[in-house]
Amino acid sequence: MTITSERPVARAPENRRVNELNAYFATLDDTVRRVFRGRVDADYMESNRGLPPFVLRDIMAARPLRAFVPDQYGGFGDDPMAIQGMLDVMSYQSMSLGLMMGINGALFVQPVAKYADPQVAERILTRMAEGHAMGGLMITEPEYGTDALSMRTSWTRNGEGYAINGTKHWAGLTGWADYWLVMARPQGEDGTLSQGVDLFICEQDHPEQRIEVVSRYPNLGLYGIPYGRNHIDVEVPLDHRLNGGRGGLRMMLDVLHHSRMQFPGMAIGFLRRLADEAVRHTRERAVSGSSLIDYDQVQARVARMQGRLALVSALSLYAIEHAGADVDLSREAVASNAAKTVCSDYMHDSAQSLLQLVGARGYATDHIAGRSVVDARPFQIFEGSNDVLYAQIGSRTLEQMRKRKTDRLGDELRADYPEAVDLAGLGAELDVTISERPAQRRIVDLGIIVSRLHALTALAEIARRGFPADHVAAGAGTAGEEIRHRLTALRSDVPLTPASAPLGASSWMPYIAS
Ligand SMILES: Cc1cc2nc3c(=O)[nH]c(=O)nc-3n(C[C@H](O)[C@H](O)[C@H](O)COP(=O)(O)OP(=O)(O)OC[C@H]3O[C@@H](n4cnc5c(N)ncnc54)[C@H](O)[C@@H]3O)c2cc1C
Repeated sequence: MTITSERPVARAPENRRVNELNAYFATLDDTVRRVFRGRVDADYMESNRGLPPFVLRDIMAARPLRAFVPDQYGGFGDDPMAIQGMLDVMSYQSMSLGLMMGINGALFVQPVAKYADPQVAERILTRMAEGHAMGGLMITEPEYGTDALSMRTSWTRNGEGYAINGTKHWAGLTGWADYWLVMARPQGEDGTLSQGVDLFICEQDHPEQRIEVVSRYPNLGLYGIPYGRNHIDVEVPLDHRLNGGRGGLRMMLDVLHHSRMQFPGMAIGFLRRLADEAVRHTRERAVSGSSLIDYDQVQARVARMQGRLALVSALSLYAIEHAGADVDLSREAVASNAAKTVCSDYMHDSAQSLLQLVGARGYATDHIAGRSVVDARPFQIFEGSNDVLYAQIGSRTLEQMRKRKTDRLGDELRADYPEAVDLAGLGAELDVTISERPAQRRIVDLGIIVSRLHALTALAEIARRGFPADHVAAGAGTAGEEIRHRLTALRSDVPLTPASAPLGASSWMPYIAS
């Protein structure tokens, strides 16, 4: 199968290392194409767990992690343009590969570069820039996922260092990573855990820092990445604790918000691939004497897939211009949560659409359509469940409305997102009155509306700079449709409550007309 899609080309701004970046993207693109399209069949490889040794070896030899690594350690200076472009190239060929780079970069390299002891950072990041090592982040515990701040993993001072104890699970690269960042809470002498969290580097080449894999998980998708449950009983030196300056919580938010800003990079390659596949398939496949692409409903699906790609492209540019390594994003909850939720929802929606368009032949683990459905799904769960992040975005808007003493949503949104409202052609339908205490589900609707307006604002900006008008129109139409749908839900708040008793088998039996 030949995939013809342009590799990302860095053109602006002029004063950047544009040639260097383009050469970097070209090398990466050639490498992943050769590995995923040449030596093995990618569909066969991705329907089996793990990655053949030569795949990892060849990919890492192209030194993809340089995108995240500061100049002084042999990288591109943690340049957002390099990061977004590299993730795009990787995710186009394989979502596992794109996420693997995202884990290494956003969840390990960036926090270490920013917050670790400089000598420790230099030693580790130089190896990672050269492609000789990988790293990941352990936050989640079996009993504490969304509620991570209540985690039970603890740290105590033990003289020459820190002792860390606990159980973590679902950390990407379980059993593979050479380095881990482990999040833990301080434990007092009486055994009680204090508020707050800290991050520690654990080096797997050192026996006393080694994390034990207790079991491996049969993850539904993303077969290229290992997951599992880990037992932590380690001792690390004093210089392995990250220092956030303004506290561990602020550091955690900065790390997570930076990571969420990388989602457009992963999503753009994935959505580009799905859109390419959809266009190719619907042109080639004839049903009932017509090409699929001639059916109106098919055109609507393809247009939405392209619209999502345009919106995510705009978010990618937004991340490049607003989420540089040095920027403290700890307070940028709306922008980073919107980037994460919009990208992951769009990945899921486009994957579902591609599978629908391809039909039965796509419902297989060795087909990109089927695989993409299960590969995209967890992006809505990890790094903050989308339902929870939407509720946070919606709550922020409600807070602002309270401060401005208004219950008129339209006034609020027109003031904050004028270009987005204009681009989506939103008019009187925005004029919804919001009650004093809306139900959580309505706050989620509000969060979805605001996140789409944020993406539309980015789209308006990229449109002003000359982004192709038909793609802008598809993006505006796609997000506009979603916003209108949620506004309807806000306007007519239909009560929907879970029933107390479950239905049994053949629950219709008593109601058969005699
Ligand atoms: C493929 C994959 C990769 C992952 N990678 C990593 C990793 O690299 N490192 C790491 O530390 N962790 C990782 N995780 C774990 C991930 O971050 C957690 O799964 C996530 O935080 C959710 O936690 P949980 O699974 O315990 O779900 P829970 O916290 O039990 O939440 C389940 C669901 O309950 C609902 N919910 C929860 N709270 C609320 C609320 N307040 N209001 C409304 N609804 C709510 C939401 O729908 C939520 O999705 C990964 C998970 C997956 C599936």
